[in-house]
Formats: sequence, C-alpha cells, structure tokens
Amino acid sequence: MRVDVLTIFPDYLAPLRLSLIGRAVEDGLVDLHVHDLRDWTTDKHRTVDDSPFGGGAGMLMRPEPWGAALDALLGGTGAKADRDVRVVVPTPSGERFTQRLAQELSRVPRLVFACGRYEGIDQRVLDDLGSRAPVTEISLGDFVVNGGEVAALAVVEAVARLLPGVIGNAESLVHESHADGLLEGPAYTKPPEWRGRPVPDVLLSGNHAQIERWRRDESLRRTATRRPDLLEAIDPADLDGADLAVLGELGWALEGGPAGGARLVRNAPPVAD
Ligand code: SAM
Repeated sequence: MRVDVLTIFPDYLAPLRLSLIGRAVEDGLVDLHVHDLRDWTTDKHRTVDDSPFGGGAGMLMRPEPWGAALDALLGGTGAKADRDVRVVVPTPSGERFTQRLAQELSRVPRLVFACGRYEGIDQRVLDDLGSRAPVTEISLGDFVVNGGEVAALAVVEAVARLLPGVIGNAESLVHESHADGLLEGPAYTKPPEWRGRPVPDVLLSGNHAQIERWRRDESLRRTATRRPDLLEAIDPADLDGADLAVLGELGWALEGGPAGGARLVRNAPPVAD
C-alpha cells in the first residue's frame, strides 16, 4: 500500500517509522511519503493560512497550496484521480472512524491524507477534490484536536496492521475487539497469582474448547456491559446457541424472525461488569 500524507508538520508523522508500522515501512509493505504542504506555497513566507471571509475567530487554510499539492499527488491540474486512490480528510465533522472503515481502507492500494490545521481547510478544496477522487472525511470521535496529523497516525496504524505480513501472527487480528463486532474480554499472563488475585482456573486447564468458550462468554459479557450499542448492531447469524444462552442471562433476546430481520434487544436491566 502507498500512503501519502500532506501536512505542515512532517515531523509529526515520525512515529510511523517506529515499531511494527516502522518495520512495515522498512520492508516496503507500506510505501510511506510525508510531504510538507508549504513546499507548494509561492510566497517568501510560505503562507498556508488566512482569515475567514465573513469574520470569525481563527484562521483557515488557503486553497492554493492544497490545490497545487493535490494536483501534484493526484496526476495533474484537475485530473481525475486513479481509481485505486482514496483521499482521507480528517475532520471532526467526518464519518466516525471504525474498524470496519479500517478494513475497507486496507483494501485500497493508495491512501492520500490531507491534514488540516487552524480552523480547517477552505471548503472549495474539498468540493474540488470530491469531483475528481473518492474522498472519505474521517472523524476520530466527538472531540476536537489541533490538527489532522494525529488522526492520520491513528488511521495509518489501524489500516497498516491489517495488511498481510505486518502483524507477525495474523490470528491476533481475528480475536480482538471490534474484529467481529464485539469487545475482547479480559486477558491474563504470568504469574498465575498476583497480589492475591488468581487467574481464572479455566485458563490454566489446558482445555482449549473450554478456554475458547470462556473467552467468547467474557467477550459477550463485556460488550453487553460496556457497549450495548454494539450488541444491538450485531448480525444474529453470527451468534450460536451458547452465545444466546449467555446473552439471555444478561437480559438480551432475539426479536423478530428471519423474514423481518431478527435482532438482539435488551429486555432486562444491564448486569454489572
Ligand atoms: N473548525 C473545525 C470544526 O469546528 O469542525 C475544527 C478545526 S480543528 C481545530 C483543526 C484540524 O484538526 C481539522 O481540520 C482536522 O484536520 C483536525 N481534527 C480536529 N478534530 C478532529 C477529529 N475529531 N477527527 C479528525 N480530525 C480532527
């Protein structure tokens, strides 16, 4: 996968050269290019911002450097971008970033990140982009940070770790929170007892089927307690009889039939974690 990041703070992306993603970059699994937006300015102060029309607090990013930078990366002035490209624009008004979106982006051969600063980017840049390339505006969540770089870091890491060969043991991607719409349950390592707190017996039993079932039950319990919204969204076809039994104890049941589209509903108050 090729990743281009446009930013006025190229050093902000340095962590992408560390750890597992850093190794993926070194090994060529991720072809990373970080660009300084100011390289596309034309004045001696390398200006990228200006005051907003209509007044108001703060500065906005001017369209010209963005236009020139995106032209350079997307194949010429106004050119339609390659079908293999997706432009990712971090913004608090974007689609909430999720594991599902990370999975979708991991199948795109080239991602171009446009990191805003100040009060954001002149809207015409987004409108122009939308007419020539697939664009996804992404929000990290319902809060505001100072720039898109932190979002680019999070999205690149979440996406790159899904690429074949980036995580040593691909199995770990299957059994983790959000991979199947559930949260992962609690996990333990050595020693078997610490500060008077023992590890659950089943994990020391060597019985893999029971361990698997216990993990699944804990995953369902944690999801029911902490993120009931995830259970409401789950496809009942992904649940077996044992799952439904645990969920029943937690006050959840299937409502509706296959024709009407069955779904999980809570019919009792939530149980404490
Ligand atoms: N004025 C903008 C608004 O109210 O929507 C906020 C601008 S914010 C201070 C500057 C930049 O930080 C944004 O252009 C975006 O790139 C990034 N940013 C801030 N919060 C974000 C979030 N929740 N998710 C993704 N990017 C965010």
